[in-house]
Amino acid sequence: VDEETYAKTAAGSSETRGPTIFDKIISKEIPSSIVYEDEKVLAFRDINPQAPVHVLVIPKLRNGLTQLGKAETRHAEILGHLLYVAKLVAEKEGITDGFRVVINNGPTACQSVYHLHLHVLGGRQMKWPPG
Ligand code: 5GP
Repeated sequence: VDEETYAKTAAGSSETRGPTIFDKIISKEIPSSIVYEDEKVLAFRDINPQAPVHVLVIPKLRNGLTQLGKAETRHAEILGHLLYVAKLVAEKEGITDGFRVVINNGPTACQSVYHLHLHVLGGRQMKWPPG
């Protein structure tokens, strides 16, 4: 979208947003350790890993979803693609024997960056229930 549309929608709609740190990672303004990339998504290593493998998978769409809880029917395709890429990342990282995919939605779930992202965690024994 152009800047004007971006500004309008970011201000006027609850499922859209202003720029976050992840936009700068997508644009490569901020460097990241990229594990997988295609035209729709980017997967990169978390800066503060909670497991030997900790990769974030995010949609590239500018002005996109802030969090899973704001998803609408039209987001179903990208949501499915993000989950499929989580599986590709697990294969690439050699953690197919056991890995966890997490989405923190909202403050009570400790979401800190309001650009939808999946955490792919593995390389150690996971515990249940999660903290
Ligand atoms: P959340 O808490 O919102 O579910 O997850 C946000 C994640 O983004 C955190 O695990 C945090 O470590 C990661 N993160 C925040 N800023 C950066 C950054 O600049 N680079 C990378 N690679 N990860 C980041």
